[in-house]
Amino acid sequence: MASKRLYYKNAYTTRFEATIVDRVRDGEQTAVILDQTFFYPTSGGQPFDIGTINSIPVQDVTIRETDEAILHWLDTTELWQDNIVGQINWPRRFDHMQQHTGQHILSQSFNQIAQAETVGFHLSDNTLTIDLHTTQLTPTQVEEAEFLANQIIWQNRPVNIHFVTPEQAKKLALRKLPPVRQGKLRLIEIDKFDLTACGGTHVKSTGEVGIIKIVKLERQNNQLRVEFACGQRALHDYRLKNSIINQLSAELTTGMGEVVESVLRFKEETKENRRQLKKQQEQLLYFKAAELLKTSKTVGETAVISHVFSKEESDPGQLRILANHLTQNGQVVALLGLAGEKSQLLFCRSQDAPGEMNQLIKPALQILGSAAGGGSAIMAQGGGPSTDTARIQQAIDKAERLLIGQIR
Ligand SMILES: [Zn+2]
Repeated sequence: MASKRLYYKNAYTTRFEATIVDRVRDGEQTAVILDQTFFYPTSGGQPFDIGTINSIPVQDVTIRETDEAILHWLDTTELWQDNIVGQINWPRRFDHMQQHTGQHILSQSFNQIAQAETVGFHLSDNTLTIDLHTTQLTPTQVEEAEFLANQIIWQNRPVNIHFVTPEQAKKLALRKLPPVRQGKLRLIEIDKFDLTACGGTHVKSTGEVGIIKIVKLERQNNQLRVEFACGQRALHDYRLKNSIINQLSAELTTGMGEVVESVLRFKEETKENRRQLKKQQEQLLYFKAAELLKTSKTVGETAVISHVFSKEESDPGQLRILANHLTQNGQVVALLGLAGEKSQLLFCRSQDAPGEMNQLIKPALQILGSAAGGGSAIMAQGGGPSTDTARIQQAIDKAERLLIGQIR
């Protein structure tokens, strides 16, 4: 029942007539098996064709393992007449042809330049990679392989299809020989350059690949993954990168060649600015601590400081540093609040001051409608939802009343 694979001999026909010979149901989906098809099923690292059968979108095309029948999956449970018209989506088909032919060319190029054999190939909507059986290539070898591949494209060599028996195939210098199966092997020959067994769809002459650009190399165990782009994908990649570099160039008001240097200089400056800012913030916090100490109430022999900061005035990191400064000398209790996206309370005392901070935090947080907090007798903190400074001041006042009770 295996369908005749018309795309084996012709990758360019996009409209064809065929007869349904079987239907397979799976839930809401139905797969039809045709007597002959131009639809390419997912196999050999290349994804399936999309398109329509009698105007119904083809969702997936797979090979049934048991008999290698090609299943065209349709989102319908309707029954149709047996005679159908199939329509292949050409932009996707041609994209696969460009990428896949480009892969043959690049694989042979790596063979010739670096004796690096291709052991894996993956093509999807957004990735195109080969895995080379090598761990190291010099940048020169990579450039040479890329250049050779593009020369083969510019020479516009014919890409021929042959069918041979496994015995005949063994005598040929094939780049890749698949496991021996029944029937004939399909060979793809790039004139006087590459000969390999392959079931995919390819262009008829190398010029149609347009260009091959290696994009990225990634070492994986004892292999090297080469990401690349051919034809229209290379154009898209170039457009994207060109647009990025032009934007950077304009933003940095520098020429394309100086963008990297300029970014490195900015990075260095930012680091230095951050260091300076941190230093100055710390100095500022010392002054702030001294100022707050002047506003403290004296309860017994303890200085009690209560203060609420707006989110413009402070942040959680600064609050902690400030509490630390305040409680380093003398008998001090600091009850600090911070407004913002989340409200924060931080209660802290010096070692020799009285008071149980962990007993103050829970009642104070209740006023903010939160129970998320805790700590020790020395230091306790907690947070609540966003709220105004007046409400946080209420929470601090409550803590202060409780603290005075604890001290007296
Ligand atoms: Zn191929």
